[in-house]
Amino acid sequence: MDAINPRFHKKTAAAVKPDELVAELRQGSRAALSRALTLVESRLPAHRILAEAVVEKALPYSGHSLRIGITGVPGVGKSTFIESFGAYVTEAHQKRLAVLAIDPSSARSRGSILGDKTRMEKLAQNERAFIRPSPAAGSLGGTARKTRESILLCEAAGYDLVLVETVGVGQSETAVKSMVDFFMLLMLATAGDELQGIKRGIMEMADLLVINKADDPEDRAVRLAIGEYKRALHLFPPKENEWIPEVKAASGLQGTGLEAVWETLARFENQQRIKGYLSENRAQQAEQWLAQSFEQLLLEEVEAKSAFQEGYAQLKQEVRAGKKAPGRAARELVRLFAQSVAAPA
Ligand code: GDP
Repeated sequence: MDAINPRFHKKTAAAVKPDELVAELRQGSRAALSRALTLVESRLPAHRILAEAVVEKALPYSGHSLRIGITGVPGVGKSTFIESFGAYVTEAHQKRLAVLAIDPSSARSRGSILGDKTRMEKLAQNERAFIRPSPAAGSLGGTARKTRESILLCEAAGYDLVLVETVGVGQSETAVKSMVDFFMLLMLATAGDELQGIKRGIMEMADLLVINKADDPEDRAVRLAIGEYKRALHLFPPKENEWIPEVKAASGLQGTGLEAVWETLARFENQQRIKGYLSENRAQQAEQWLAQSFEQLLLEEVEAKSAFQEGYAQLKQEVRAGKKAPGRAARELVRLFAQSVAAPA
C-alpha cells in the first residue's frame, strides 16, 4: 500500500477544483503541477476520483511533447547523463524538460534510489526543467498508471520533452515502453551486455542505444562497442514503425555526444509524426491503458469486498479438497463478484 502523502490531506483535496488546478498548471505554476502530481500519486479513493477529473481536464492540452523512456543498470550514469542532457536541451534548444522516475525497487526497500535528493542537483535548479522523483512504493500496475497520468499533466504544463527514467533491472521497462514514444538504453563499452544485466528483450525495445561514459569517443573500446551493438541491433526483426535503431556514444560527465542524441530524437519525432506512427502508437497505448486500468480497478474492487473475499476463501478450500472443480468454482466466483459489486462494500 502506498503511504498517503502527508502534504495532501483530505481537506486540501476537498478544496481542489480540477478546472482551476489545470488552469494554474497551464500558466506555468510549478506548485500547481506538483499538487496535481501528488493527487495522481495518492491511493486514497477520494483523491483518485479528483485525480481522474484533473487528468480529464488536462487531456485536451496534452500530447505535444516527445515522450522518452530512458533506462540502464544502476551506475551506468543515468542521472549524470540526464543532468547534462537536460542542461543541453534547455539551453541550446530552449526546450522545457520534465523528468519522471519509476523505481520498482522502492516498493521493497521503502527507500527510493531515484528519489535521492542529491541526484540531478543542477537540473533541479533549472527554470526550464521539472524533476519529479519516484512516487511512494506501490504495485507496478499502480506505478504505470501514475506515470501515464503524470506524463499528461507535464504536457499540459507545457513541457516539450518528458523523460521517464527507470532502473534497468527488467521489471519496469516493458511498462515504460508502453507509455513513451521513444526508448533509450544506456550501456557501457567496457562490459558485454550479459555482464551489464541487460536482457535481450530490453535491447530489442530500444530505439537508441547510448554507449555512455565514452569520455574519449576515439577510444578503441568505444568504437568496438558501437560496431558490436550495431550488429546486435541489426539481428532483431524490423520495427513496425520503420525506425532503425541507432547507436551513439556519449559522456554525461563531459557533456559530449549530447547533440547527436538530440539529433536522433528530433529526426525520430519528425519522421514518426509525418508517417503517422506517433499518433497511431499513442492511440494503441491509450487503448492498452484502458484495458489495464479496467483490470486494475476490478482487482481493487475485488480486494475491497469482504463478502467476496470470504466466498473466495471458501471456494479455494473446496477446490483444494477436491470437492469442487476449479472451472465450476471460477464461474461461481464471477457470480459472487457481480453480486458483491452490486451490493455496498
Ligand atoms: P545511475 O545510477 O545510472 O544514475 O548513475 P550515476 O549518474 O549516478 O553515475 C554513477 C557513477 O558513474 C558516478 O560516480 C558518476 O560520476 C560516474 N559517471 C557518470 N557518468 C559518467 C561519464 O560519462 N563518464 C565517467 N567517467 N563517469 C561517469
